[in-house]
Amino acid sequence: MSGYDDRPWLAHYGEGQPAELAPEFPHALAMFEAAVRRDPGGHAIRYFDGRLTFAELAALSDAFAAGLLSKGFAPGERVALYLQNVPQYAIGLLGTWKAGGIAVNVNPMNRERELELLLRDSGATVLLTLEGLHRDVAAAVVGGTAVRTVLTTSELEYQTRGDARVFAGAGRTGAAGGAADLAEFLAAHRGQAPPPVSFAPDDTAVLTYTSGTTGPPKGAMNTHGNIVFNSQCYRQLCELGADDIVLGVAPVFHITGLIGHVTLALLLGAPLVLTYRFEPSLVVDVIREQRPTFTVGAITVFIALLNAPNADRAALASLRKIWSGGAPIPRSTITAFEELTGTYIHNIYGLTETTSPSHGVPAPARAPVDERSGAVSIGVPVYNTVARIVGDDGTELPPGEIGEVVISGPQVVKGYWNKPDETDRAIPGGELHTGDVGYMDAEGWFYLVDRKKDQINASGYKVWPREVEDVLYEHDAVREAAVVGVPDDYRGETIKAFVSLRAGRRATEEELIAFARERLAAYKIPRRVEFLDEIPKTVSGKLLRRELRERHADH
Ligand code: AMP
Repeated sequence: MSGYDDRPWLAHYGEGQPAELAPEFPHALAMFEAAVRRDPGGHAIRYFDGRLTFAELAALSDAFAAGLLSKGFAPGERVALYLQNVPQYAIGLLGTWKAGGIAVNVNPMNRERELELLLRDSGATVLLTLEGLHRDVAAAVVGGTAVRTVLTTSELEYQTRGDARVFAGAGRTGAAGGAADLAEFLAAHRGQAPPPVSFAPDDTAVLTYTSGTTGPPKGAMNTHGNIVFNSQCYRQLCELGADDIVLGVAPVFHITGLIGHVTLALLLGAPLVLTYRFEPSLVVDVIREQRPTFTVGAITVFIALLNAPNADRAALASLRKIWSGGAPIPRSTITAFEELTGTYIHNIYGLTETTSPSHGVPAPARAPVDERSGAVSIGVPVYNTVARIVGDDGTELPPGEIGEVVISGPQVVKGYWNKPDETDRAIPGGELHTGDVGYMDAEGWFYLVDRKKDQINASGYKVWPREVEDVLYEHDAVREAAVVGVPDDYRGETIKAFVSLRAGRRATEEELIAFARERLAAYKIPRRVEFLDEIPKTVSGKLLRRELRERHADH
């Protein structure tokens, strides 16, 4: 009756496309093994002047796995990858899988308390990180966790070295504080082949931490089947092949970077261009030199590229296939980008819990725009995926009516690590309740109009207000704190704290911001603090966040 059963969106994929995507590979590692067989000498990763071929990446990840196994690493153990966008991420990810393990993606912006929480929750026994992050953050917390092996590396390791010289490093200092140096660890196990592994599609491949719809960080269990399926979805939706070159502008610890850069490039057998972190001018230079054809990232990335002093049409010319996800995209940005570069930015939508996309605008199409709200459509569901709009009572709503977006399909995670209650709440019966509010039009295009969840979305970085509030409460002048997202021209949303102080106590805005900065990742720090005598609450004590957002708007 609602029109969902005949899946009107399939029409948007054009003629000759399969109605379903069948996984070609039993598990994610098999995608890489196929690429190594096809073209061992092809570039798997380009990192400034450094190149890692598929064969070299295979040898390095073999050595990583053999090294783990020599330390008694058992199947299913977790390896925390606390890294920027460096080639060592791929070595750690593939090596973990080759040793039968599960990778835990950790945001390198995390501070001590955030890192410790993830290490404890995941029970990781191995930590791979940069020397600087180890020294500044990790060394202080690993002692209280299950981590037995710490491997450190440098962001310079692969920057300027060609295929043959990746082990040239000498005189390292990585052994400080009980850590072993990654290059030495790999060299010690070079040539040792770990025994073959196999995974079932339902086996967990990666734990990706998210606040989800309901609070503190939880490890979404992205399975091998989820990863294979959604890597294929990118290939299909974005019409990509082995001739493409993937530019990694999203962080690889986030699901967009993991699937839309790392595993997609492995599936394609195409080079992945990494740049350590997103610095607009640097990335423009890299685009000019490396000629990447495809990327996916948050819309702020494309605004920043547009505004980089060295950006012009020629510099960005190779980048013809662009998708933006993780946050809403304004129509004006799509237009401005297309005017400068000639390239149209497609919208793509998904969550950590959908292992990257559940919806997207297929390559040949342009997203329709809702003339009432100006919202750009997030696209149509990817293959084999059913998205429905439901009302508060759980009933399915017909096209045009606004409700929560719920999703079922091969990319939906099987749950959160060690959190069966949270899993049942968010994914009852295998159907994900996204916390996003929107509608579907008669042709099967979906639009978002609001959010049910408290999550703040700052340039695609998700912030759970309670985490920031908890830190503010630790300040001894703070009586009550409430954190909300407020509109921001560049980030879409930014963080604002409302605070009431204890009687007779004083604290300034700057002081509270500095206090938070010492304890939280940079993107979670409030940009503004407003002091109130009382924080508005319901009679039952629930914070009235909407009222606070409206109060901000009125100022
Ligand atoms: P994450 O788990 O970090 O990937 O965040 C998922 C959330 O990002 C979704 O629930 C949405 O609220 C938001 N999001 C993702 N893609 C889009 C998009 N294209 N437009 C608007 N919001 C998006």
